[in-house]
Amino acid sequence: MFKALNILDESDKRLRDKNSDVKFPLSDKKKKLIKKMLDELRYSQIPELSEKYNLRPGMGLAAPQLGINENFFVIVYEYEEGKFQDYVMINPKIVSYSEKMICASGGEGCLSVNREVEGLTPRYARISIEGYDIDGNKIKIRARNELSIAFQHEYDHLQGILFFDKIDKNDLYQTKSNIEKI
Ligand code: ZN
Repeated sequence: MFKALNILDESDKRLRDKNSDVKFPLSDKKKKLIKKMLDELRYSQIPELSEKYNLRPGMGLAAPQLGINENFFVIVYEYEEGKFQDYVMINPKIVSYSEKMICASGGEGCLSVNREVEGLTPRYARISIEGYDIDGNKIKIRARNELSIAFQHEYDHLQGILFFDKIDKNDLYQTKSNIEKI
């Protein structure tokens, strides 16, 4: 039977705590949890299942959102209608990024933020991120546009940063900048 994960709300201080690196090999418990995180995100993006299990659609989830102050996150990206790519990033580091900045034109959402937030979050258009997969193999991913935003959003969770921290209070919708809204 499916049981939804308990995701912390933005008011929970654990979202702002320091996170430590994960040690390998992963315990079976942690591997199972990561699989569950991926399943839940995928279900949340499939309308019949999100309704059935009462899941708010989400693309990414970071360990601190589950009260686990460790450096890992997962992303499930619908790259084509009904087709999903899973990403697991353990102990990640953004190793390079573009000069070009972008914003998600509809604003960002977060499974820990249960309210409408005004404003757009500036992000790098492209990033390269290195980390480890579930088996401890080193991986490097290059992401652009929507996927790049998702990686930066989740990476920020590991630094205790939420997406609205980066919204410019004096220019909520980036009208004075030339940042591309995608
Ligand atoms: Zn989030």
